Amino acid sequence: MSWDFSTEPEFQELLDWVKDFCKNEVEPLELVFPYAPYVRDEKMRALVKPLQDQIKAKGLWAVFLDEELGGPGYGQLKLALLNEVLGRYSMAPALFGCQAPDTGNMEILAAYGTEEQKKRWLYPLMNQEMFSAYSMTEPQGGSDPNLFTTKAVRDGEEWVINGEKWYTSNGRNADILFVMCTNGIFIVPRKTPGVEIKDYPRTHNHIIYKDVRVPLDHLLGPEDGAKVLAQRRLGGGRIHHAMRAIAQCQRAFDMMCERALSRESHGKVIAEHQMVQSAIADSYAEIAQLRLLVLWTAWTIDNSSTQEARTQIAMCKYTAAKVLREVCYRAIHVLGSLGVTDLTPLQAMWAGAPTMSVMDGVDEVHKVTVSRNVLKGYEPHEGFWPTDYFPEKRAKAREKFAAAFAADPELVGYADYMEKRSRGH
Ligand SMILES: Cc1cc2nc3c(=O)[nH]c(=O)nc-3n(C[C@H](O)[C@H](O)[C@H](O)COP(=O)(O)OP(=O)(O)OC[C@H]3O[C@@H](n4cnc5c(N)ncnc54)[C@H](O)[C@@H]3O)c2cc1C
Repeated sequence: MSWDFSTEPEFQELLDWVKDFCKNEVEPLELVFPYAPYVRDEKMRALVKPLQDQIKAKGLWAVFLDEELGGPGYGQLKLALLNEVLGRYSMAPALFGCQAPDTGNMEILAAYGTEEQKKRWLYPLMNQEMFSAYSMTEPQGGSDPNLFTTKAVRDGEEWVINGEKWYTSNGRNADILFVMCTNGIFIVPRKTPGVEIKDYPRTHNHIIYKDVRVPLDHLLGPEDGAKVLAQRRLGGGRIHHAMRAIAQCQRAFDMMCERALSRESHGKVIAEHQMVQSAIADSYAEIAQLRLLVLWTAWTIDNSSTQEARTQIAMCKYTAAKVLREVCYRAIHVLGSLGVTDLTPLQAMWAGAPTMSVMDGVDEVHKVTVSRNVLKGYEPHEGFWPTDYFPEKRAKAREKFAAAFAADPELVGYADYMEKRSRGH
């Protein structure tokens, strides 16, 4: 029997190191130079590199990648525990070499790339000599691949791509764009003629691909493999978002509790007012529920596969958004007017909840997945009544006592009396 909620002491030591490192090194850098890891300027590199060297020396670089793909191979459960720390700091993933959207792109490159493609793109991405973006969503079709129209057509030794993509995160700064076409995923250097990035939105970009030509070897994986690669990419990403959401919830919760103990109103600290206690108790329980769900899902992936865990991953995705929304809202409320300013991280974290409900597939789509998969384990009942309909169940149960009733007719009277009483009306 193994049903263990403990963390190995050696790994706990590493987690403690990460906690201290983030508090003492990452947070100050984030507060003063928020985009430092993405800036290619020498001055910023001089601040970032020594920190990254320490992370590498601890074996914590690109922790999301399995060993055979070039990472430390911790697996999802340990990654979840690490992300519970990293997720508190928006800069931490980039400092630790596990920033989205590069992570998902690296995963599909590692899994489907040729040796040549890995050399050209995977290793530079792993070393942050390059950054990437993932261009899937289309303005007319959201993330429904059946509505996508972006297409690559072969012309001699080249693919010619035409289409329009919406909300490509980091597209403007990326060196390469992973473009999902109806007939495959193609790697397009951003500076290729025909790639036009609109002025807005600034961070998540609207991109026109007009007669964009790339060599044949820029197709990643098989032709027509776009949906399979996209699923593989997004499955991993969703659970990683949920892992980091736990950290965000915990950060909001810590702020709520600290404030509850610090602020006085109507004769007592607000932590002694019952409605504040209710906010704390509900938040504590919801974070624990989310955490257990995410850890169980991570454990399932480690012990089977992302595909096997898809129902759980879908649950994590919308549950994380919901818990983040509820906990951040309560924390903002407990901080009162200060909570609604942008002088604390709460506003941004709360705004992260609707974002989480939309990115990587809207909540509704994941709820459909869960409901459909769960219903596969059920069947409709026969006749009018549900299986748990008492009159029929009781009649069947009485058959079990047939011999006892025959031996002692008084028992029948007892059973009739009990039945009448239990009906009530
Ligand atoms: C922060 C962020 C980063 C992102 N990064 C990227 C990126 O890097 N690359 C990329 O390609 N895309 C990216 N996206 C886009 C993302 O994939 C889409 O926003 C998402 O898939 C939904 O598409 P949409 O925004 O067009 O919403 P729509 O599809 O228009 O959905 C709007 C609403 O319609 C309803 N709805 C839609 N479909 C269904 C359904 N099947 N059942 C029931 N109701 C439904 C829901 O209420 C939904 O919220 C990002 C999004 C966000 C928020």
